[in-house]
Amino acid sequence: MAQHFLLSAASRTLSLRSIYKAGEDAAYAMFCEMRWPETNGEAVCPQCNHDEAYKITTRRKFKCKACAHQFSVTSGTIFASRKMDFVDLLAAICLIVNASKGMSMVQLSRDLDCQYKTAFVLAHKLREAIAQEVHTGEVLDGHVEIDGAYFGGHIRPANMKSNRVDRRLKKHQTGKRRVVVAMREREEGRTLPFIAMSEGEGVALAIENVSRDATMSADEASHWDALHDGWMTDRVNHSEIYSDHGKHTNMVESFFSRLRNMIQGQHHGVSPKYLHQYANHSAWLEDNRRTDNGTLAHIVVSNAMGAPVSRNWKGYWQRAA
Ligand SMILES: [Zn+2]
Repeated sequence: MAQHFLLSAASRTLSLRSIYKAGEDAAYAMFCEMRWPETNGEAVCPQCNHDEAYKITTRRKFKCKACAHQFSVTSGTIFASRKMDFVDLLAAICLIVNASKGMSMVQLSRDLDCQYKTAFVLAHKLREAIAQEVHTGEVLDGHVEIDGAYFGGHIRPANMKSNRVDRRLKKHQTGKRRVVVAMREREEGRTLPFIAMSEGEGVALAIENVSRDATMSADEASHWDALHDGWMTDRVNHSEIYSDHGKHTNMVESFFSRLRNMIQGQHHGVSPKYLHQYANHSAWLEDNRRTDNGTLAHIVVSNAMGAPVSRNWKGYWQRAA
């Protein structure tokens, strides 16, 4: 039997051991390289773009030789007010990219031995960096599956039967329930999730985000009938069959399965405020499920530093150590 990707050596190009063994200076140098890839890590002034700066080594700061502006490697990035050491920051990134079903902020704070708040802010920043990879602005093409799934707003049934209410009625709901509408390209493509109040809003999202040349697949829900006006559309009736001679929505369903596992297993519920972040994180993990963890960490750091992503990350950690 073929080995599962996550069990193979090729999936592991980054480890906590290599990060801590290489140390703080190596981690700092790596952030410089990610921030200024075109100068191989030499500082470029964010104010005037001049590429010569004095190094204020003791404080890890730079002073521009042209305009005297003082800056650091993280100025103007999502890590701007960072207090963590660079090694810990890298370790956090390593932990997050290794967690294929996401990671709770409590767990992250314990693993890093930092305050919960610190872990919380950091995890959200990293998800921002991840979201840039998911919402690229490019339309989906080829064969695109669409579906929706509801999350949040759970109403706990009362203990005694006589006190229980009809949870389907609007007046008993919490107003926190949302639907994640996701579109996913088959064949190693991209997954694009959105948060909506009802699944029917998915049609408008498809019009905005799916190429007119694509073929679409959806289930039997009547609001998807409108898709036939815009695309060649396959339908599968899930009350009868899950996969009907190639007509299915299994790819987008497996995205929802990962998202559900992430929310139930790690975050134990979700407020509408953060649902989009978990959806983006899940989509990214799904799309990169066969990418090695060193490359994933590279993508996250590059996006976080606002630099163009280069995929030549493989082997970096071995060299740094
Ligand atoms: Zn300058």
